[in-house]
Amino acid sequence: SSNNLQGYAPICLGLEDFYIRRLYLRIQDCFGRPIASAPDAWFDVVERYSNDNNKTLIRTSNVKRCLNLGSYNYLGFAAADEYCTPRVIESLKKYSPSTCSSRVDAGTTALHNELEKCVADFVGKPAAIVFGMGYVTNSAILPVLIGKGGLIISDSLNHNSIVNGARGSGATIRVFQHNTPSHLEEVLREQIADGQPRTHRPWKKIIVIVEGIYSMEGELCKLPEIIAICKKYKAYTYLDEAHSIGAVGKSGRGVCELLGVDTADVDIMMGTFTKSFGSCGGYIAGSKELIQYLKYTCPAHLYATSISPPAAEQIISAIKVILGEDGSNRGAQKLARIRENSNFFRSELIKMGFEVLGDNDSPVMPIMLYNPAKIPAFSRECLRQNVAVVTVAFPATPLLLARARICISASHTKEDLIKALEVISQVGDLVGIKYFPAEPNKH
Ligand code: PMP
Repeated sequence: SSNNLQGYAPICLGLEDFYIRRLYLRIQDCFGRPIASAPDAWFDVVERYSNDNNKTLIRTSNVKRCLNLGSYNYLGFAAADEYCTPRVIESLKKYSPSTCSSRVDAGTTALHNELEKCVADFVGKPAAIVFGMGYVTNSAILPVLIGKGGLIISDSLNHNSIVNGARGSGATIRVFQHNTPSHLEEVLREQIADGQPRTHRPWKKIIVIVEGIYSMEGELCKLPEIIAICKKYKAYTYLDEAHSIGAVGKSGRGVCELLGVDTADVDIMMGTFTKSFGSCGGYIAGSKELIQYLKYTCPAHLYATSISPPAAEQIISAIKVILGEDGSNRGAQKLARIRENSNFFRSELIKMGFEVLGDNDSPVMPIMLYNPAKIPAFSRECLRQNVAVVTVAFPATPLLLARARICISASHTKEDLIKALEVISQVGDLVGIKYFPAEPNKH
């Protein structure tokens, strides 16, 4: 325990259930609380606290205005927007919140068709199909793409929706070390030929699954190397761009644009609308044949209610803003801002002595805490100073690799970021997570 951590019970790993439960309670307590306003750069968090020094769980609530470093609002579309919002309201009046039907029954509106065309054009593929939820896009599509007799080779840190989809497919699953092309090649060699010449491939189909930006690491995918290996071994590539589409690349077109990859080299492009577009849902983009096949066979297309029309309109409008088709240059400004903000924030944190994961240009910035016992103090101290930060621990990360996961937005101003840096710096000293010497005269 430390004198600095006033008010925080020391929590040691391996202690009784009571402590573990208490730890989880606190983790949830830090950010799992309701939010009372749009998740923009600042938002209202409903704060609950006990009046009797946490002896009971009876809590009082009040609403606290906080700087939001937690939402995936990369381009700032999560708040009212002068172009998107009036159109979303119109679509709500015209189509209602729900189509109350699946795409193949009565659930396809003109907006749905427009959205699919718009997404395909934006990501640079001939066709696209959209779903009401990003999570479902992965978990429902993979079982349609591959099954028994097929092989999925998945990055070890892929998102749970991918893991679930892969498991549900019945294909054999192999995992390669996170973002390590050489290990991917090792796994492929072993699975295809084991070093021996063969007359036939033992797998009906091989799909290699990676993410554009890894959501717990903030790291960019080593896509060019991975594609080269997939081509060499004739495996399909499946790229989840949940955190990269809209957020990186000169015109927001994701990691392919950022890393100079031809989208023709990625067979299946997946993404969600919940991060950069301020909406909900997900997409798969690919060849016309692939998308047609999915439209005929995917249960989540055939049997689930289609994406909500106002959500579809939000995405279409946000893409128009990003591309400057709204007649303004706000899209270009947002893209410039997310990049500047991310790179500024990352470099300042590193200068202060924090260990920050991830790459330049990535708006996702994990600050390593390591010991999960540091989580409650870190997030509650930040929150006390009106900065809301998401902390992540086991089972979302390995047990001793707990972290605070910062998400930067184009809607953060320089003043917001400087305030956040000041608070994080103070809390970092308090909690003892500056693992490297700070540069002199900085914060
Ligand atoms: N893929 C990845 C990489 C994700 O991080 C997430 C959620 N954050 C999803 C898919 C699921 O998307 P959604 O939250 O839009 O359902």
